[in-house]
Amino acid sequence: MKFELSDRVKDLPPYLFAQMDQLKQAALQKGVDVIDLGIGDPQDPTPDFIVEALHKASKKTHNHRYPSYVGMLSFREAVAKFYERKDVKLDPQKEVLALIGSKEGIANIPLAFVNPGDVVLVPSPGYPVFSSSTLFSGGRQVTMPLLEKNGFLPDLSKISQDDAHRAKLMFLNYPNNPTSATAPLEFYKEVIEFAKKYNIIVCHDAAYAEIYCDKRPVSFLEVPHAKEVGVEFGSLSKTYNMTGWRLGWVVGNENVVHGLGKIKTNIDSGAFQAIQEAGIAALLSDQKCVEDIRRVYKNKREMAVQLLEEAGFQVTPSEATFYVWFKKPQNFKTSGEFVTHVLDKTGVVITPGNGFGEWGEGYLRISLTAPQERIKEAVTRLATLL
Ligand SMILES: *Cc1c(COP(=O)(O)O)cnc(C)c1O
Repeated sequence: MKFELSDRVKDLPPYLFAQMDQLKQAALQKGVDVIDLGIGDPQDPTPDFIVEALHKASKKTHNHRYPSYVGMLSFREAVAKFYERKDVKLDPQKEVLALIGSKEGIANIPLAFVNPGDVVLVPSPGYPVFSSSTLFSGGRQVTMPLLEKNGFLPDLSKISQDDAHRAKLMFLNYPNNPTSATAPLEFYKEVIEFAKKYNIIVCHDAAYAEIYCDKRPVSFLEVPHAKEVGVEFGSLSKTYNMTGWRLGWVVGNENVVHGLGKIKTNIDSGAFQAIQEAGIAALLSDQKCVEDIRRVYKNKREMAVQLLEEAGFQVTPSEATFYVWFKKPQNFKTSGEFVTHVLDKTGVVITPGNGFGEWGEGYLRISLTAPQERIKEAVTRLATLL
């Protein structure tokens, strides 16, 4: 028997990385020495002390049972302590919820607050889950273009009165994937004012909050009054090389945190407690391991940017994330055309900007998660194309 997919699934745009993977597999089968700078998934190991903490915690029988859906109180307290370092005060009981990776929370939050037809403000280019979760909730996506001339920040004055009044929720993400831009304090203040005026929930995705070169960028929740209008999603994935572990959090507005919790109680049963204990070890540590991770990305960034610029590529300056965002050469019509050409001629996988939404067209993204020599080799191959 063949069963028809639901309309909501049929309406999904093809998942970018699945398409990229097909092209990559075809090249591998031809015996090409493929270098994948596509997906942002750290290849370095999780720091040892975190793995050790999991090992110990996994032997405790009480951790083998269903976890509480909100997360262990000790984990939520560790998240609150982590935010104390940034002078943000959180009530671990009411303003912190553990997530099975931040993607899980981002995917579920529209279900808690968006009715069919409500507007969700979504940045483009942006993390694809902002759009798909909007679609699943029946919400109407209104795109906020992230333009280079605006520092890849949305121009809130361009959102129509009508859309602003109908908007229930706004997604933001800084340091930004894919553009690698950061947002200044002034921008967040403007967002908070806008959200108050139109009664909009701000959902700030801070997956890259700890991945920066020298100066830590300010984050949404550190801005006065942020908690009145929204929440921040955080994650251990990128900070501690823990993408496979699936542990994150949402913090901020009590009412919003509670709403997401209601959805979660009905869908999942919380993150494995042994993983939460390892997460506590990570969050309460002296963060020295994160300094090491930052230094590695900084070195890779400097090397990649220098080689790309020497080859004639126009690179967006950046101080954060582990992505480099740059313009396609003018003699290629689209980002996609260039990406296919690059894979064909050099065996290097890079990501076309339009895979993150229409406003990403004309750009390319490489990820700095591969080993330094492989990135160097890949960028050197790219340089031969210009
Ligand atoms: C990687 C990533 C996430 C997801 O992180 P998890 O916590 O592993 O689910 C969320 N947002 C952005 C922008 C990301 O790049």
